[in-house]
Amino acid sequence: MSFVITPPPQAALPVQGDERRFPVHRIYCVGRNYAAHAVEMGHDPDKEPPFFFQKNPDNLVSDGRFPYPPMSQDVHHEIELAVALQAGGRDIPLEQALACVYGYGVALDMTRRDLQDQMKKASRPWEIAKAFEASAPCSPLVPAAAIGHPDHGAIWLDVNGARRQSGDLNQMIWKVPEMIAYLSQLFTLAPGDVILSGTPSGVGAIQRGDRLHGHVEGVGELQVQVI
Ligand code: MN
Repeated sequence: MSFVITPPPQAALPVQGDERRFPVHRIYCVGRNYAAHAVEMGHDPDKEPPFFFQKNPDNLVSDGRFPYPPMSQDVHHEIELAVALQAGGRDIPLEQALACVYGYGVALDMTRRDLQDQMKKASRPWEIAKAFEASAPCSPLVPAAAIGHPDHGAIWLDVNGARRQSGDLNQMIWKVPEMIAYLSQLFTLAPGDVILSGTPSGVGAIQRGDRLHGHVEGVGELQVQVI
């Protein structure tokens, strides 16, 4: 196939212990998937089920650097388990959902909170708050073939050595198989799709120069410098 312009580079994530990379197709993000975070954002987790938004595939970055984005004075960290799919489809049954998972990573859903608040108030979309450049720093993926499918274990984020966010994967309102099954009713999921599965409580602002250290038990570490 020939193109009228040079094709953009394929968005991709490194894989632990493998020279090859994981090609990224789409990024789906789950909102308010830990009850304590829903409460800190002013919502009732019993009345508002989780919902989805998207980032752009090349917003996933793995170079350990987060450039503070323009047009915001209040950029927040959200530490999340990333779920990378090797298979997809429509109307995936719950019991087949985990077979679609290639592996897992430790990711940050970086958010321009001030712009998100403005968009919420105006009932406008969230892209300018969520889908900006380098807005999804992510660790190398680890294959499920090596670690299984984590459904419990600590998830935390330190900023400059101080614990900011802390939770457990077992606190997810919607579990990974449920997210995949539900998303597949709304979209045709595909190999290369990545799901960011929501954040525990403790989100807060970051500053230029901050060192972020994220951890998901059994999955790995994410080190990011804000520049
Ligand atoms: Mn999030």
